[in-house]
Amino acid sequence: MNKALLFLLLISFSEATIAQQKKGPNVIIIMTDDMGYADVGFNGCKDIPTPNIDRIASSGVVFSSGHVSFAVCSPSRAGLLTGRYSQRFGYERNVLYIPGDEQMGLSLDEETMADVLGRAGYATMLVGKWHLGAHPNLHPLKRGFKEFFGFLGGGHQYFPKEWTISDPLSVMDEPGSYKTKLNKGNTVVEEKEYITDAFSREAVSFLDRNASKPFFLYLTYNAPHTPLQAPEQYLSRFSHIADKKRSTYAAMVSAIDDGVGKILDKLKETGQEKNTLVFFLSDNGGPVENGSSNGNLTGRKGSLFEGGIRVPFAMQWPGTVPAGMVYDKPVISLDMYATVLAQLKQSVKTKHPLDGVNLVPFLTGKKTGAPHETLFWRHYDMKSYAALSADGKKLWMKGDSTVLYDLGTNPREAKNIADEHPARVIKMKQQLLDWEKGLKPPAFLGLSQRDAYIKSKGL
Ligand code: CA
Repeated sequence: MNKALLFLLLISFSEATIAQQKKGPNVIIIMTDDMGYADVGFNGCKDIPTPNIDRIASSGVVFSSGHVSFAVCSPSRAGLLTGRYSQRFGYERNVLYIPGDEQMGLSLDEETMADVLGRAGYATMLVGKWHLGAHPNLHPLKRGFKEFFGFLGGGHQYFPKEWTISDPLSVMDEPGSYKTKLNKGNTVVEEKEYITDAFSREAVSFLDRNASKPFFLYLTYNAPHTPLQAPEQYLSRFSHIADKKRSTYAAMVSAIDDGVGKILDKLKETGQEKNTLVFFLSDNGGPVENGSSNGNLTGRKGSLFEGGIRVPFAMQWPGTVPAGMVYDKPVISLDMYATVLAQLKQSVKTKHPLDGVNLVPFLTGKKTGAPHETLFWRHYDMKSYAALSADGKKLWMKGDSTVLYDLGTNPREAKNIADEHPARVIKMKQQLLDWEKGLKPPAFLGLSQRDAYIKSKGL
């Protein structure tokens, strides 16, 4: 290499480094879909090896009481990307796939983490499932992401031969949305790979292209959500699992794990490992019927028992967050946004106040105590509420039932201790009522009200 070229390369490298230092660390959020709490090695899974996902845990921290803000896909994602309880803006149902309805998705009054990081000079990309509205104005490219590769709906067929619909705007229902061709930006692509492998490939490509800039990658695998579909390459790893559902589910998780390995390797290769926060979590608890396992937890996807809202959740930031840590105080997916924002070198204003907390000082020991005094949930259609205190007391309410659990001594939520702690019940009920004052009723009819929606629109 001649000296002039070397000089130019050094200059551009140092400029890139300065640009990065000025803005803040890179951010990668890897989210799986309908994965059970106990389906990763770091939470004790025995029959599905997840060596790469476990690398995040061993290089960083496992949140053993890591929660999402809602027990199903779409509102959970709305919470994550806005850093706010989505019930504050009426996002409490799974959206219907209706490209003609701008109200059917994430309100344009809300700002996303991608909006804010984009403003701060980050390269931003969504790879995978969107599920925050199919209307053109709600498209990821209109919600802060400069790049998009994936699909707009709530789930998808996994093999390219099933992708027969070219125009995602022509579809009016969920089964159709599962068959749309993938999009790159707004353009239809003729993808040839198994969907999970395609997502991993595009994520790695984004990291390659942005190694010298600050970046935010939001990688949302639709696996292991139904339909259960995996190629022989992954199925063959689990021929020893007799249960067909579980073995296919395992193959789907294994494909994700391979992808996570490629992403972590790329971070090392590009020298960005210490300069990147990597989060891994599921969007809600395992629904069980897809072969998932929530281990000892009671409940499943949709429920406000721990099995619905406590998820596999880990984070690494080598050199800053201690390796091999298990953090057991309750945290929530909303904390990722606040954590990231706190690392930016220049303060950036958000449109609305965030509900999350910067977790880093709690992990480094700079702050003691708990990030949250209490976390809250409401599931409007089920008339169900929950609140979880930092000391592990959990209030669960549905209709006229009010129950108090101590997750520390009774993680299965089997023993009601409400009668022994009447003052605590009154206090937590009041906290829930106070929290609810800041919420709105659901802003749109959802997947469970499809018929009512069709009727209301005269369709
Ligand atoms: Ca989900």
